[in-house]
Amino acid sequence: MDEHLSPGLYLVATPLGNLGDITRRAVEILQQVSIVACEDTRVTGRLLHHLGIDARMVRYDDHASPADRDRLLETMRGAPVALVSDAGTPLVSDPGYRLVRAAREAGIYVTGIPGPSAAVLALTLSGLPNDRFLFAGFLPVKAKARGDVLAELGGVPATLIFYETAPRLLAALAAIAEVLPGRDVVVARELTKKFEECRKGPPADLIAHYEAHPPKGEIVLLVAPPSDQPSAEVDVDALLRAALAEAKPSQAAASVAKATGLERKTLYARALDLK
Ligand code: SAM
Repeated sequence: MDEHLSPGLYLVATPLGNLGDITRRAVEILQQVSIVACEDTRVTGRLLHHLGIDARMVRYDDHASPADRDRLLETMRGAPVALVSDAGTPLVSDPGYRLVRAAREAGIYVTGIPGPSAAVLALTLSGLPNDRFLFAGFLPVKAKARGDVLAELGGVPATLIFYETAPRLLAALAAIAEVLPGRDVVVARELTKKFEECRKGPPADLIAHYEAHPPKGEIVLLVAPPSDQPSAEVDVDALLRAALAEAKPSQAAASVAKATGLERKTLYARALDLK
């Protein structure tokens, strides 16, 4: 353990649900910092209490003002400050980006204490290809914007990872069924907690399941990459349509060729038909 922590910003990952997932180093850092900046002092207060740490907390959330940031930066110049979020790794769909950027620009020491993040845990559990993945945060709430994002990302040859909430799961699955037909989906729910589940299937099957068993808790939604389907099952027209929503036929054909390994010339001809 460091005798004296250097002044600066310490990005500390915390558990996703199972308090046993805090790292020894995270505990050591939280014991030594002068301030713990957190999204919600009640949530972080419970964690610190569990760890037997009596640290000074200040709120740093999405509504933090430039003045709040400046105050924290001033503290970091002379003392160690931790940033944590409610769960998982700070900055991953959580506050902190502006703070890290400003700290770096100010020449302040910035380091991270790694730990869990729901996106990576879900990917590893999903059984979907993990050599390439694209984390896209939360899907938009509005139907049109959600469809646009799925169409935009649908041609990317990578497993897509989204954060989702239980009340919006069915709408998200329906949008995937419509915009990216033929793609398998994984719902990774309540990871590290008592009712953890990881359910894979075509969106229609998952919709039927979750209509019968309304989902609760926290959810990561993963979409198989185009190349994960056996080629006979790839819905080329759907991929082309999704790509055409964003690009010219030649570009659409190029991106679908890249995603599927199919011949670009043939795809271009089909894209012209569909346009
Ligand atoms: N910073 C966090 C991380 O590193 O994963 C994510 C914070 S984001 C505001 C919260 C979202 O993460 C939830 O809506 C859910 O999509 C996902 N999430 C967090 N904990 C989870 C869990 N235990 N199981 C499944 N998804 C989880």
